[in-house]
Amino acid sequence: MSEVEVSRRQFLQIGAAGTGVLGGLSPLGFDLTQAITVKQKLRIEGATVSHSVCPYCAVGCALLAYTKKNADGKVELLQIEGDPDSPVNEGRLCPKGASALQLAVSRRRVPSPMYREPGAKEWKTVSWDFALDRLARNIKASRDRTFVTTDANGNLVNRCEGIAFAGGAAFSSEEGYLATKLMRSLGYVYLEQQARV
Ligand code: SF4
Repeated sequence: MSEVEVSRRQFLQIGAAGTGVLGGLSPLGFDLTQAITVKQKLRIEGATVSHSVCPYCAVGCALLAYTKKNADGKVELLQIEGDPDSPVNEGRLCPKGASALQLAVSRRRVPSPMYREPGAKEWKTVSWDFALDRLARNIKASRDRTFVTTDANGNLVNRCEGIAFAGGAAFSSEEGYLATKLMRSLGYVYLEQQARV
């Protein structure tokens, strides 16, 4: 060991000696008396707590959302974290759930529909009316093009083989029922559900 190196044992001895001599200083030289009197100001101090559920998967982890009204009257979402009282997650969240705040307030979130015309290099912002019309037209065109009335054996099937549907785990039972009815009414046979279980 060279002159300037200090072993862990020596380091602790120096710290203990320093504490004895200097009283209010920690072994590392911090002024503890001042640190103890400093009141930590939390970002969520005085915020309203609301209970919610993570929308990402079927585990259904419980969330606490902290909001506060700003001086301009707008309610700001400050923090989302796991609910320690939940028997499902006991305060814990997986990385997806832990980033739930960004669902609402991420600067990178796209706030409106975007459209890139065939052959174009740039995306442009469009209205919801435009996007929904476009979606409806594309669904109809794909359905008309890929609808099958009879299979190879001549059986009547009346199904659309060109479109698939994937539901989300955030669906309620009623939404899932409605979505399935709608898709079946269009003749879709490829229905799937994203649900982490
Ligand atoms: S496991 Fe993750 S994604 Fe699923 S509900 Fe819990 S936090 Fe959300």
